[in-house]
Amino acid sequence: KPPSSQLLDLLFSNSGGLVAYSESKSYHGVSGVASSQADNKKKRVVVLGTGWAGISFLKNLDISSYDVQVVSPRNYFAFTPLLPSVTCGTVEARSIVEPIRNIIKKKSGEATFWEAECFKIDTKNKKVHCQSTQKTKLDGKEGLIIDYDYLVVALGARANTFNTPGVAENCHFLKEVEDAQNIRRSVIDCFEKASLPNLSEEEKKKNLHFVVVGGGPTGVEFAAELHDFIDEDLVNLYPKVKDLVKITLLEAGDHILNMFDKRITAFAEEKFQRDGIDVKTGSMVVEVTDKAISTKERSSGEISSIPYGMVVWSTGIGTRPVITEFMKQIGQSNRRVLATDEWLRVEGCDGIYALGDCATINQRKVMEDISMIFSKADKDMSGKLTVKQFQDVIDDICERYPQVELYLKNKRMKDIRGLLKDFEGNDTKELDIEKFKLALSQVDSQMKNLPATAQVAAQQGSYLANCFNHMKECEEHPEGPPRIRGSGRHRFHPFRYKHLGQFAPLGGEQTAAQLPGDWVSIGHSSQWLWYSVYASKQVSWRTRVMVISDWTRRFIFGRDSSRI
Ligand code: FAD
Repeated sequence: KPPSSQLLDLLFSNSGGLVAYSESKSYHGVSGVASSQADNKKKRVVVLGTGWAGISFLKNLDISSYDVQVVSPRNYFAFTPLLPSVTCGTVEARSIVEPIRNIIKKKSGEATFWEAECFKIDTKNKKVHCQSTQKTKLDGKEGLIIDYDYLVVALGARANTFNTPGVAENCHFLKEVEDAQNIRRSVIDCFEKASLPNLSEEEKKKNLHFVVVGGGPTGVEFAAELHDFIDEDLVNLYPKVKDLVKITLLEAGDHILNMFDKRITAFAEEKFQRDGIDVKTGSMVVEVTDKAISTKERSSGEISSIPYGMVVWSTGIGTRPVITEFMKQIGQSNRRVLATDEWLRVEGCDGIYALGDCATINQRKVMEDISMIFSKADKDMSGKLTVKQFQDVIDDICERYPQVELYLKNKRMKDIRGLLKDFEGNDTKELDIEKFKLALSQVDSQMKNLPATAQVAAQQGSYLANCFNHMKECEEHPEGPPRIRGSGRHRFHPFRYKHLGQFAPLGGEQTAAQLPGDWVSIGHSSQWLWYSVYASKQVSWRTRVMVISDWTRRFIFGRDSSRI
C-alpha cells in the first residue's frame, strides 16, 4: 500500500474500525478512498446535506442503531429564515449558524462528519463520490468514496437564474450565509461610493438604486429589511445622499406575495407604496449588465433599462448539478426535482431517500393509485356506489394520501364536494361512479406539490428519522397501511405534512401571518408572534440567546453599518 493509505489505515483503525481502508485509485485526477464495512455490523446511513432536512433527520435519528456518515461542504447549519435579517445587520451571521459537530454529538453516539461535496451518486455500487472543499490542496487526497446501505439525499436547491443573461455575473443571491454577508457589505459600499465628492448627481443616484428581483417571501422580506436599515440607520449617517436612495421591487406576476392570502398581498403592496418602495409588477428581467438591468413589460412588450447600484436576485430555486446528474442516471431526467413516493423513497432506487427542496412526492403516481382504488370499487359495485360507500372510498384515499386530505380540507375540490352536497342526508342514494372519476381526475391537474420550505423539509427529516428508528421493529411487525399494488403491507404510514402557517415580515415592526384555517393577522402583534416563533425554532440554546440579544442590541443601538 502507498504510505498515504497506510496513514489512513492507522487513522481509521483508531476511530473504532468504523471505516476501513479498502482501495486507493485515481478518480477525476485525485486519489480516491473507498471504504467498506467489513468490521462493522451496523447498517450504514449516509446523509448528504446539513440543511433543514438533513439536520432534522440527524437530530431525531437514534444514532446508536446505525453507522451514520454525514457529508456537506459546510460544517454548520444555517437558520435560513433569518438570512434577510443578516443582510442588514439586524442579526449577525454567527448568531444563526450552529456547528454540525455540536448537533451530531449525542449521548447515544456520534455520527461521522466529512466536510466535502458530493458530486456523484453511484446507485449500482451503492457508493457516493465526494471531494473535499478545502481551499488548500491536499496532495491528491481530496477524494472520498463512501459506501452506503441507506442514502438520505437532502441536498437542497440552488438559486434559479432562468438562464437570464448576466444574472450570475452581476447579481447577488440570497441563499447562503456568505450571500447575506456579501449583500451587507455591498449596501454599505453603495452608500460610501455615493458619498465620494467627485461623483455627479446621476452617478450617486445610480449607486443608491437598489433593485430586488422577485416578489416572493424572500424578496419582499429583503426589500422591507433594506428599507428599515436605510430609514432607521443609514439616513442619519449619510444625510447628504439620503434623498437619492431608491428601492425597486420587480415581479413578473400580477402581484407580490401571490402564494399568500389576497388581504396580505394587498396590505404589502399598499405598505410598500407608502414606504416609497417602487413595486413594478408584470415586469420581467431580460438581461443584467454591470451597469443596468433590462426589463420587459408583460402587457406592452416594452423593454426598458434601469441603472442600478446593487441587484438582489430572488426568483426561486433550481436544481443542483449533482441532482441533475443523479436524475439522468435513474431515468428521471425530464424532472426539475427528484421524484419520491409517499414514503420519501426515490423512485426506481433501492435504499435511497430524498427530502427537502431537492425532492417532491410524485403526484402522478398518487393519482394512478387513486384511479386504481376507484376502478376496483367500480368493479365491486358494478358501476354504482352509495354515498356512504363513496365516503368510505374517499376516507381510504385520504388515509393513504394526505395531500388529498389537505386538498379536500382546502375546499378546492369543488366538484366532488358539490356532488356530495346534492346527496346530503341520503346515504343510500346511488351515485354515478364515472362522474366521480372525472371529478377526481381534476385533482391531478390542480393538486399542488408541497412548497419548498424549511417547514416541509424539517417535517420530512423527523418523519424519516422516526421510520429509521422503527425499521427493525416494523420489519418484524408490519402494521402499516395495506399496499395498493400487490399484496402485504407497507412498513410505515406515508409522510403526512402538517401546515403550521407562514409569515411575511413587511418591515416597520409589522408582519403578515397566515395561519391554518386561513386565519390572517397583519401588524405589530404578528411581529411579536414572529419573534417568538423564530426564537423558539432555533436549533440550540446558544443561537437562541444570540439571536434574541441581537434583536435587543438593534432596538437599543440600531444596526452596525461598518463595512468589514
Ligand atoms: P438546504 O437547507 O438548502 O440544505 C442543503 C444542504 O446541502 C446544505 O447543508 C448544503 O451545504 C448541502 N449541500 C449542497 N450541495 C452539496 C453537495 N454537493 N454535497 C453535499 N452537501 C451539499 N422556509 C420557511 O419555511 N420559512 C421561511 O421563513 C423561510 N425563509 C427563507 C429565507 C431565505 C433567504 C431562504 C434562502 C430560504 C428560506 N426558506 C424558508 C426556505 C428554506 O430555507 C428551504 O426550504 C430549506 O432550507 C430546505 O431545506 P433543505 O434541507 O432541503 O435544503
